[in-house]
Amino acid sequence: FPASQILDPLASGCHFLEGAMPFEVCTRFPPEPSGYLHIGHAKAVLLNDYYARRYKGRLIVRFDDTNPSKEKEEFQQSIVEDLKKLGVFPDVVTYTSDYFAQLKEYALWLIDNNLAFMDDTPQEEMQKERMARLNSKRRDMSPLDNRKYFDLMGSGDAEGAKWCLRAKVNMQSVNGTMRDPVIYRQNLTPHHRSGTTYKAYPTYDLACPIVDSVEGVTHALRTTEYNDRDEQYAWFQNALKLRRVRIHGFARMNFMYTELSKRKLTWFVENGEVTGWDDPRFPTVRGVVRRGVNVAALRGYILSQGASRRITLMEWNKFWAVNKKEIDDRAKRFMVVSKEGKETITITNAQDPSKNEFLNIDAHPKFPAVGKRLLKISSSVMVESSDIAGVALGENIVLSRWGVVKITKVEGGIEGEIVPDGDVKACKRKLTWLSESEQNIDVKLFEFDNLINKPALEEGENFKDFINTNNLAHMVVTGDAGMRLLKQNEVIQIERRGLYRVDKCYGRIGGAAKGGSGVGGDLGEE
Ligand code: ATP
Ligand code: MG
Ligand code: MG
Repeated sequence: FPASQILDPLASGCHFLEGAMPFEVCTRFPPEPSGYLHIGHAKAVLLNDYYARRYKGRLIVRFDDTNPSKEKEEFQQSIVEDLKKLGVFPDVVTYTSDYFAQLKEYALWLIDNNLAFMDDTPQEEMQKERMARLNSKRRDMSPLDNRKYFDLMGSGDAEGAKWCLRAKVNMQSVNGTMRDPVIYRQNLTPHHRSGTTYKAYPTYDLACPIVDSVEGVTHALRTTEYNDRDEQYAWFQNALKLRRVRIHGFARMNFMYTELSKRKLTWFVENGEVTGWDDPRFPTVRGVVRRGVNVAALRGYILSQGASRRITLMEWNKFWAVNKKEIDDRAKRFMVVSKEGKETITITNAQDPSKNEFLNIDAHPKFPAVGKRLLKISSSVMVESSDIAGVALGENIVLSRWGVVKITKVEGGIEGEIVPDGDVKACKRKLTWLSESEQNIDVKLFEFDNLINKPALEEGENFKDFINTNNLAHMVVTGDAGMRLLKQNEVIQIERRGLYRVDKCYGRIGGAAKGGSGVGGDLGEE
């Protein structure tokens, strides 16, 4: 991506980070390894990466793995791979779980300093007390008793499961997140990294302000739904006498007709509504890349929105337009013909087909740099019937990339002859076509639609009531021999149909010819 375009903050809409010093900025992206990265996460990591690079600072990617019930090695691995796909190369990769011992020390320090207490109030009642701004009856327990129950909780004892640690902040606060938040609770599920060493884990609310400060983060970029938590975040850093970290809020990125929550995406996978996390209909990084999203275009698009706090509901079509601009001048052009509804034109003065004649054409008519490719010509040319319907005797038509053909017979099979130096502009019909050839292949074209049939769900609406079941179509068409050479991920344009990304290439696995099947490549649509 042309650096000049994204490094100008005014042009790109990116704002300067408050208090940012060149060479000193440190940002972080803290994914929870509880699902695959989606385009919303892509916005978060690309912004963090942008600021780290812009100020010649550092980017930390920190796996926020404090909840063993939700996290898995598989997800962690996928995040590492997807960051590479996005072209993000963190300076440091860390794990909140590496700080478990330290976080426990901080929790004990809060207890010893009367800033945290153990509570066994049942969850529902705790919720009510929070609403009513009532102190828990355990709030004034002595540090000694608090330590006793903290140890009980941490030992994995069933009795300890009733207890959690809460920060003693302010039950009277107008800000609900300040009303003695829970900061540690028992969980017996083995952790994918620390195993069974710990039986109680810090919550995000405790871990985040501590680890951010300890790791040297200068600017914590968070989506604006965390705004209410900013006060609490600051409280922990002050209470623990830690270096303060600046918080910079930015808007979540949402797309119309698209669900981004991991819980909902997991449902689609588990219910077989999609073929996996990399399904081209899915808004995961893998999914959109498979759908044909160009990473440079995505990066540019996201950074052009900048770190504004305005909530954004994006339209896919606007993004596709940006995407198209990025890929169009590199996409080789191909022509295909439908299997059904095709018509043959006999070209009476074409070269002898036994001589295997080819035209040497530009793969992209406007950009010669894309290269050349061979296009077979013969006396037997297939076109779409709808394109040739009603053609008149004596009419001149254009076979795209080849030339003008004068129709010499229409009854009982269409015939025509090439008109050397014919006037292309004077012809009404311009046809895509293909020579009949044993070298032609079947090509499967896919077209995708949204998984959700409503632009944005309202509060209280269940996404399962808005599933678009008609979200996939495919058809098999005939392509020319040149399509055998396409590589996986290559983006091409099929003339008059659109841009496609090669999802499976022709009969090749790992570079070795597979042979036998004779079935063509599967192409994912734009
Ligand atoms: P989900 O709600 O899908 O489970 P999450 O926000 O809990 O996602 P995390 O792995 O904790 O997932 O997110 C990592 C980072 O990505 C966080 O800083 C979060 O704010 C950010 N993020 C998540 N979703 C979006 C989004 N739609 N737009 C921008 N940033 C996002
Ligand atoms: Mg989260
Ligand atoms: Mg979330």
